Amino acid sequence: MFSGLLSDLVQNLKKLPGIGSKSAQRLAMHIINIEKEKALELADSIRETVESYTNCSICNMLSETDPCRFCSDRSRHQNLLCIVENTQDVYLIENTNEFKGRYFVLNDLLSPIDGIGPDEINYPRLLELVKSDSIDEVVLALNPSAEGESTISFLASQFEKLKVKVTRLSTGLPFGGDIEYTSSLTLGNAFKRRYSVKEK
Ligand SMILES: [Zn+2]
Repeated sequence: MFSGLLSDLVQNLKKLPGIGSKSAQRLAMHIINIEKEKALELADSIRETVESYTNCSICNMLSETDPCRFCSDRSRHQNLLCIVENTQDVYLIENTNEFKGRYFVLNDLLSPIDGIGPDEINYPRLLELVKSDSIDEVVLALNPSAEGESTISFLASQFEKLKVKVTRLSTGLPFGGDIEYTSSLTLGNAFKRRYSVKEK
């Protein structure tokens, strides 16, 4: 139905999460129908944001500044480290107001079948940070999926060797669930009731 540049725009919009063919076509039509200035403002905003975001060289989260605002905030508990899969999880946890420590973003979860091993989840950097910054407690705030569980077992076994306390979120999170879709309250409670990985 669409051709040329408009078709390219539809294809690009379709790459966004939750956007199917129909929505992509509707959005593309909307974009070319609105005032040119407004559409270009949207384009500029996307470009500027993408260009200014980078991975924090300490915790790996996507941030406008390096180090990110969490790594540079000395009022946060410096010896408490929460490990999450992605940058979005950092914001979900911040919304609960239950955590005042630091973060580390893995960017992925272990999955040997897909060739995702310790290097791919930034484990060498994480290990360096835990050692050099005398971390006392590591909170594994990972999705309780198969990959999440194998990542939790791997990290717990590594950090216990270093005598670091390793905790995980309480089972308020259903197995196979996703912390992205959990309410702030449930996630906050899961944080409050976090327990030592060893106890299980
Ligand atoms: Zn950071």
